[in-house]
Amino acid sequence: MAQQADIALIGLAVMGQNLVLNMTDHGFKVAVYNRSRQKTDEFLAAEPDNANLIGCFSIEELVNSLSSPRKIMLMVKAGEVVDLFIEQLLPYLEAGDIVIDGGNSLYTDSQRRTESLAEKGIQFIGTGVSGGEEGARHGPSIMPGGNPSAWPSVKPIFQAISAKADGAPCCDWVGDGGAGHYVKMVHNGIEYGDMQLIAESYHLMRYGLGLSADECQQVFAEWNQGVLDSYLIEITAEILKFKDQDGEPLVDKILDAAGQKGTGKWTGISSLELGIPVTLITESVYARCLSALKEERIKAEANFGASAEPPILNESEKSEMLQAIHDALYASKIVSYAQGYMLMREAAKEFGWELNYGGIALMWRGGCIIRSTFLGEIKKAYENDPELSNLLLADFFSSALKNSADNWRKAVIFAIQQQVPTPALSSALAFFDGYKTAKLPANLLQAQRDYFGAHTYERVDAARGEFFHTDWIQSG
Ligand code: NAP
Repeated sequence: MAQQADIALIGLAVMGQNLVLNMTDHGFKVAVYNRSRQKTDEFLAAEPDNANLIGCFSIEELVNSLSSPRKIMLMVKAGEVVDLFIEQLLPYLEAGDIVIDGGNSLYTDSQRRTESLAEKGIQFIGTGVSGGEEGARHGPSIMPGGNPSAWPSVKPIFQAISAKADGAPCCDWVGDGGAGHYVKMVHNGIEYGDMQLIAESYHLMRYGLGLSADECQQVFAEWNQGVLDSYLIEITAEILKFKDQDGEPLVDKILDAAGQKGTGKWTGISSLELGIPVTLITESVYARCLSALKEERIKAEANFGASAEPPILNESEKSEMLQAIHDALYASKIVSYAQGYMLMREAAKEFGWELNYGGIALMWRGGCIIRSTFLGEIKKAYENDPELSNLLLADFFSSALKNSADNWRKAVIFAIQQQVPTPALSSALAFFDGYKTAKLPANLLQAQRDYFGAHTYERVDAARGEFFHTDWIQSG
């Protein structure tokens, strides 16, 4: 009788290969298939002694190699390729079988796939997998959602291969339909924000204060020992240390035009659709878009002039400004996560998901790109108060913001004076100031809306929900 595999994986690109090896290391038998046969051949040839690998060269062979209920995971290009494979699989599947999509799919696609497959008796899981190649190989953060009845069959495999934080797997059931991919999308959006905040802090140090790449590296390495301890700060220090063949920092040779694949944009779109001010992530997406206008920026600098020369500061003034930049980064990061959690809370309400916010922080504590000690504090905040309306109001974060606020302003003022663009650091501060302002100028906006469009307004001296209209053009 043919060997029975525990799970099948389709898509032997970088993520798929590494996930498969992680699974086989943990003792699971994995059947593999790839559209281009050559990749399967090469993968099998590179693993001659791996008794847990079963190579397959057709979808039928792959499905038939599985024990029941069949679990088939797709690690292919997100979008229509996923639907294409589901169509190819369907003729061979039986009721109760499970299709898992581990790519970066749009959550609405996962919602749709869960529903349409359920009509055919097939269970679907749409799961975020974070941590890149390294995470996939040695322990990713895994965020599954979809059809909850599929979870018990998949759980032992996913929790075995996932990263562990304080001994707990960085993988647990997120929620129905598209919930897993939604949480992964917000994770990626937060990743955009964290990266942009680090890049702006670097820009301020390097061109605002005039530090060398080596000096910046030392600052980031030091920051990684404190409250900012995280994977992204750690790799930033590593990157700044790295020299090109001529001995110059490699970072200086890299073109300053950033790419993107869409998950940050989706987060921004969802925030607009749900009416939640996720300003920092959205600014981070725009910052990448602005960076891509390289040719125009060169012309504009020639026209408007470059940033100001670094001021002459003594050692103590310089270290005070570095502390200000540190505090600005920390406070902005708190705002970014608070905004991400505000978005997930609203999405849960909109789509009927029961999200475990502390559990999500735990899933992000290990394995993924945004892993940090900071997430442990988020987990604690939701453990202390599962109904917490906003992270900014949790004791730990509230004190951190109060302690950082003056330095945060100092760093942003310095950036403005030096003409160093800091859209994420500045917009986070603007959000914070707006959030903590009891009276905003929206009264004037409402008056303008009523003036030109008779949109009506509520009054401070009447009950909420009672609307008024004024004929603003007074005769005489
Ligand atoms: P990828 O480059 O996104 O996709 C390559 C795989 O998709 C290959 O198996 C390829 O088959 C298959 N494919 C592409 N177009 C196809 C088509 N028209 N028909 C059939 N198969 C097709 O691979 P990846 O970087 O490993 O990522 C896999 C998934 O994980 C993606 O959704 C990605 O967004 C997500 N992800 C990636 C990372 C990362 O760090 N790379 C991290 C987290 C999540 P062929 O070999 O035949 O071309």
